[in-house]
Amino acid sequence: MTPEIEAFMGGLHDDGVTDPKVLDVMARVPREQFVEPQLAHRAYDNLPLPIACEQTISQPSIVGLMTQELGLDSRMKVLEVGAGSGYQTAILASLCRRVYALERHETLVEQARARLASLDISNVILAHGDGSEGWPLHAPFDRILVAAAAEDPPQPLLDQLKVGGVMILPIGEEGSLQQLIKVTRGVKEFTYVELIPVRFVPLLNGSQ
Ligand code: SAH
Repeated sequence: MTPEIEAFMGGLHDDGVTDPKVLDVMARVPREQFVEPQLAHRAYDNLPLPIACEQTISQPSIVGLMTQELGLDSRMKVLEVGAGSGYQTAILASLCRRVYALERHETLVEQARARLASLDISNVILAHGDGSEGWPLHAPFDRILVAAAAEDPPQPLLDQLKVGGVMILPIGEEGSLQQLIKVTRGVKEFTYVELIPVRFVPLLNGSQ
């Protein structure tokens, strides 16, 4: 491990990313390949960074915490809404059976696809589309991760979560304080737990 990656891991751990499986994957996925080349020197700072289409690659500690809260295992089928750069997608793909990822900006889809292919990640199905509707064709999902904030959990996503399944998503309006929420689907009802305050781009309808 280079000193830079070692410092990156130490910082993630200090911020609460303590699951060894998650840390191991984050030490191996090259974040510099998911940012613009001119920002590659900042790839291991714990910061969100601008990507194409006026979007952002999420802050590494938030990616780590969301992944950790999902509690993944290698048999699981995961839906990711808002794949953006594909960085979170690559991490999920290493920890589960298959990732179904949706992104509403076509340019980002093309870039993320190329990055995942160059890393030989083949258990991701990435499509261009509005993820707030979920992906009924492949539902239900063991886990759902949403990387853009809605005012309430979208009903189609709740419907497409398996019983016993977990969804992690930011809730709140753009610009105001948002909360990262963990939703667990029981046999009869959904349980909601607030995790931490966060700041995400908004979940928008339609695709571009
Ligand atoms: N985890 C990603 C986060 C990207 S930011 C990364 O680290 O790169 C959130 C992404 O959600 C943006 O790319 C945005 O275009 C996308 N998004 C917003 N609303 C969406 C929707 N309804 N369906 C699919 N993607 C959406």
